[in-house]
Amino acid sequence: MSDAENKPSRTMRPCPICSKLSTQEDFPFCSERCRKVDLNRWFTESYTVPVVETDDLDDDDQGGL
Ligand SMILES: [Zn+2]
Repeated sequence: MSDAENKPSRTMRPCPICSKLSTQEDFPFCSERCRKVDLNRWFTESYTVPVVETDDLDDDDQGGL
């Protein structure tokens, strides 16, 4: 069995950033620029720390009920 090279396994995908056709060089992006944009997006997402909700409400102090 040597039909491994017989398969057309080259799937062209659109760039996830600008949905242009991706190139083989910068797969899966269409250009280096879009690749960086994606990288940047990644960084900014990891930088957004989820806000810790501190329930510092002191309204359980009403013991006169
Ligand atoms: Zn692109």
